[in-house]
Amino acid sequence: MSEQEKQTGREAQMSNIKAAMNVAETVRSTLGPSGMDKLLTNGNHHIVTNDGVTVLRELDTAHPGAQMMVEASQTQEAVCKDGTTSVVVLAGQMLALSQGLLMRGIHPRVILRSFQAGKSLALEHLESQDIDIIDAAKTALRGKAAESDLEYAADLCLQACTKADGNLDHIRVITQAGGSLGDSYVQDGLVINKEFSNEVEDKSMEGDLNILLLNGGLEGYDFNEVQMQVENMQQLHELKQQELGMLSELASMVAGAVGPQGVVFVRDGVHEAVAHYLSQHGIPLVTRLQQSDMEGLSRLLGVPIYHRIVDVDEPIMASNASVKQERIGDLDFVTVSGEGEATCLVVRGATRQTIEEYERAFDDAIGVTCLAMKDGGKGFPGGGASFSAASMTVREHASTQPNMTARERMCLEAYADALEIIPAAIANNAGMDPLDVVMELRSAEQGVGLFIDDRGVGEICNTLEQGVVEPESLVKQVISSATEVATAILRIDDIMAMKEQQNGMVG
Ligand code: ADP
Ligand code: MG
Repeated sequence: MSEQEKQTGREAQMSNIKAAMNVAETVRSTLGPSGMDKLLTNGNHHIVTNDGVTVLRELDTAHPGAQMMVEASQTQEAVCKDGTTSVVVLAGQMLALSQGLLMRGIHPRVILRSFQAGKSLALEHLESQDIDIIDAAKTALRGKAAESDLEYAADLCLQACTKADGNLDHIRVITQAGGSLGDSYVQDGLVINKEFSNEVEDKSMEGDLNILLLNGGLEGYDFNEVQMQVENMQQLHELKQQELGMLSELASMVAGAVGPQGVVFVRDGVHEAVAHYLSQHGIPLVTRLQQSDMEGLSRLLGVPIYHRIVDVDEPIMASNASVKQERIGDLDFVTVSGEGEATCLVVRGATRQTIEEYERAFDDAIGVTCLAMKDGGKGFPGGGASFSAASMTVREHASTQPNMTARERMCLEAYADALEIIPAAIANNAGMDPLDVVMELRSAEQGVGLFIDDRGVGEICNTLEQGVVEPESLVKQVISSATEVATAILRIDDIMAMKEQQNGMVG
């Protein structure tokens, strides 16, 4: 926030709107298949990305108005995985056009009400169609790095989502540097980016296994954390002995808990004495797992996650399971399968930057594919077609509805105009004249949008026939989130710096 403690009324409103519009401006050039990439850098780490939410996450947004836009994009990411740029671009345009309305002296409340009405109209009248689910995956991948092998990448998404029955929670995307995108594959079960932490002879276990998932560590005393007065070496030695005693008790409890055919997965670290004891008993150990891996294992193997070893009172069996350390490419991984559902997409690529961008692209595309399955294969033609259609509905309503004030009509028309920013930005990024495209779309029939072909050449046509489609709920979510955040920003007419927070949020 700026130096002044408090901004009120028009000033606060305008500064919020401006900040939010700046955010939209930042990501607008990445929208669509011809969108440009951004290079984000902090000096030593670089990210090359085309993904709106990733750009925004790394952006230093201190202003509350900007922050709200970032949050809207994060919500979109959480709900749909894709459409994160669209939300921000659309909300930005709604705000840009409200600026004009405010300047003309229209009360924010009238704008708010009309925008809400516009949203309801748009959502009500959008008619979804049957789409090919793989097309939704391809559309999400377009313009991202994974585009080079579009067919193959889209097929991987479909494979993973089909295996997981459209359940996004059951799919993990993991990356493995080396090879190329064409070496990526889908595998049943979980692939964990780890090796066994202890030496065991048998690196492959199958059948009914005893699995211990421990949400903590198996460590000794932390001498860094406690302050102790040790008078002589003898005392230190005794302390170490005591620790070893405790550790061996711990180790035998763990070994006892899992018994033969056991495997231990631990969230935190494990003392080497415990690891060694477990090796001697032929029990493989995997340590420092991510929380998401722990949860995935629990679901896949049908075993609970324990917080303390003393809570384990009966053998924890996972039937028909397998835990193996396998070499994939040139690295070792722990692969796990079980009776539960889990599917892994292993993404490969040459450099860390490309692989990270592939991972983001697959994250989006898998999310979209699952969404399309959940929507029962219903969706809309892409390339701005649905936004243009929604815009026409709203505009028509504005001109035909009799009981509306002139001001409301103006606001509703502004809302309709704002929706057209999606095809306009896609056109602009492809080097076309946005106004020409928007005008042409206005006179076209439903389902017609802007299709950008592989060479980057644009054509006004039925984008569904070109395989550019989006799931129904994705488009609807974009329209509602954008309207929500734009109206939320318009509603604020006071910014106060909270005392306790330096660069405070809205109070
Ligand atoms: P977002 O983060 O909002 O998903 P993207 O950069 O992925 O942003 O762009 C998505 C937009 O690009 C959607 O409106 C989609 O319909 C459009 N799009 C994707 N492929 C094409 C294409 N080949 N031609 C025209 N528009 C496309
Ligand atoms: Mg996208």
